[in-house]
Amino acid sequence: MRILLIGPPGAGKGTQAVRLAAHLSIQHVSTGDLFREHIDQGTELGQNALTHMRAGLLAPDEVTIEVIRERLARPDAERGFLLDGFPRNLAQAEALDGILADSKPRLDAVLDLEIPEAQVVRRIAGRRLCRQGREHIFHVEHSPPEVAGACDVCGGELYQRDDDRATTVRKRLEVYRSETAPVVDHYRAQGLVTTISALGQVQEVLDRALVAIGQARSMPPVRRAVAPSTGKVRGCRP
Ligand code: AMP
Repeated sequence: MRILLIGPPGAGKGTQAVRLAAHLSIQHVSTGDLFREHIDQGTELGQNALTHMRAGLLAPDEVTIEVIRERLARPDAERGFLLDGFPRNLAQAEALDGILADSKPRLDAVLDLEIPEAQVVRRIAGRRLCRQGREHIFHVEHSPPEVAGACDVCGGELYQRDDDRATTVRKRLEVYRSETAPVVDHYRAQGLVTTISALGQVQEVLDRALVAIGQARSMPPVRRAVAPSTGKVRGCRP
């Protein structure tokens, strides 16, 4: 199964991606995490990505597409994957279409996480990550750790991402609007997109996503949207 998760910064992509991938027994592939691994290892690619991340900009396409091509070619991606944070512009979407050209279907579903911009800065400002487990994500208000500054799962130190500071977040939002939003339209034209409200508890959003994926796999391509209040999927043929 191949799924894309798209949404603005702060929509909870990382949080949902980890849970969805575990639930569906597929690989969670995050370009942001792949870059952060390179940064931790001190590679040249990591240094290059870090410059762009700190400015709230996208890393160059050639580098990003190569990182993804290499990751998806590994045997553990054969069973399926959930892409989190890729593609982020049309050039990357077209490159992904090429990488998956021999797979049928190329993609099973594209989930578009929707959140009002006013919520984004607040959500991101409180986000804390664990230095030892990238999938351990906390929020100082919504899901605080039991001991401030320490991960509940492994005791690792919690920290705030450099690019989660307010000015960088505003730039990331601008980039999302101009470069990533057209990617949703690219897949909408293929009848693959389901829009899900990212508001509510983590479990509520996860349930909406699972309903949407179930529907997407059992239906021919349709235009789909999940009603925020009910979590029910609305669909209509293009
Ligand atoms: P994320 O963890 O997905 O929020 O990504 C963190 C940062 O990594 C982004 O703000 C970009 O600077 C960079 N990045 C992640 N994914 C991509 C991508 N598909 N294309 C270009 N840059 C990316």
